[in-house]
Amino acid sequence: MSKQAYKFRLYPTRKQIQTLTWTVDRCRELYNAALQERRDAYRMVGKYINYYDQANQLPGIKDIREEYRDIHSQVLQDVLRKADKAFQAFFARCKRGATPGFPRFKGRNQFDSFTYPQGGYALTHDHRVCLSKIGSIKVKLHRELHGTIKTCTIKREGDCWYVMFACEVEHECLEVCDEAVGIDLGLLHFATLSDGSTIENPRYYRKAEKKLEHLQQALARKKRGSHRRKKAVKQVAKAHRKVANQRKDFLHTASHTLVNTYGLIVFEELQPANMSKRPKPRQDEQGNYVPNGAAAKGGLNKSIVDAGWAMFQQFCTYKAANAGRDVLFVNPKYTSQICSGCGQVRKKELSERWHSCECGTELDRDHNAAINILALGRSVQARA
Ligand SMILES: [Zn+2]
Repeated sequence: MSKQAYKFRLYPTRKQIQTLTWTVDRCRELYNAALQERRDAYRMVGKYINYYDQANQLPGIKDIREEYRDIHSQVLQDVLRKADKAFQAFFARCKRGATPGFPRFKGRNQFDSFTYPQGGYALTHDHRVCLSKIGSIKVKLHRELHGTIKTCTIKREGDCWYVMFACEVEHECLEVCDEAVGIDLGLLHFATLSDGSTIENPRYYRKAEKKLEHLQQALARKKRGSHRRKKAVKQVAKAHRKVANQRKDFLHTASHTLVNTYGLIVFEELQPANMSKRPKPRQDEQGNYVPNGAAAKGGLNKSIVDAGWAMFQQFCTYKAANAGRDVLFVNPKYTSQICSGCGQVRKKELSERWHSCECGTELDRDHNAAINILALGRSVQARA
């Protein structure tokens, strides 16, 4: 059994947004009250209050504050459990001899979700999530859900609402497959495979990146503390979320395809050094500087690409583990310099896109690297 999380966008009506917001606020209030009670008891009488002490008070709370009857009781219990966790962590730090601060109260922007830990929710076939005490909300199921749903969390991010399902999946091993592939992750192509094919960054993704860049520039021009700046911050956050979500989707699909196709996938180990390396400045015969690919490697683009690579390897690794297939990592040293035909080292600048060797080997630089990565992976596997 393994765990799998799904996140889907919700489309609540205006009235439902009010109810969701109200529920989050009540949960936050309860969380802070639970912390307060524990802090007071601990400070004043050195008494430790546990989860059950607090959960037993819930019926009493509902008598005094009737509005709490409008929230599913397991949701409230889950809030108390979160407070309990925060305190457990606090005591664990005390035990280790650290001098931690008490768990913190949550402000309006620091508490943005609530969870149905067992029941009280349902996913219906007409693409709606039914939530006890809240209603039926439209959901966009952009990918198929596998396994049994264990918990359901409603979360606010900016102006958007999401539902997150934690599922337990009984993974089925895929049949044994002898096909192996080496993968070179790059800037020009997202990935180049040892069979010469490539995986490209989707175009919509580049479009979203461009938009994010524009919004960030616009934000930089706004006056501090101004209303327009606040608005711009919101827009940047929204664009960031969009890029992040699109990236995740793309990486899920690409890793799924690879794991289904190959029994062994070999990657280079990502190293912070080679991720952030900048290409050397280049000059032509007259001493003028010529493009060296630094723009493609710099700034926003770079950070997005870097994050994507690591996440891609992560997705491939866990998907392969669930399917009974292998992922290996090899040392990236010389993988782009060695000739995949004869083994000779042929020094290349970052800007040299073509590998050509005296032995007659002629191929794309990244394709050459991917073949070397696969060969390294096979030799590692043979030794094991
Ligand atoms: Zn050669």
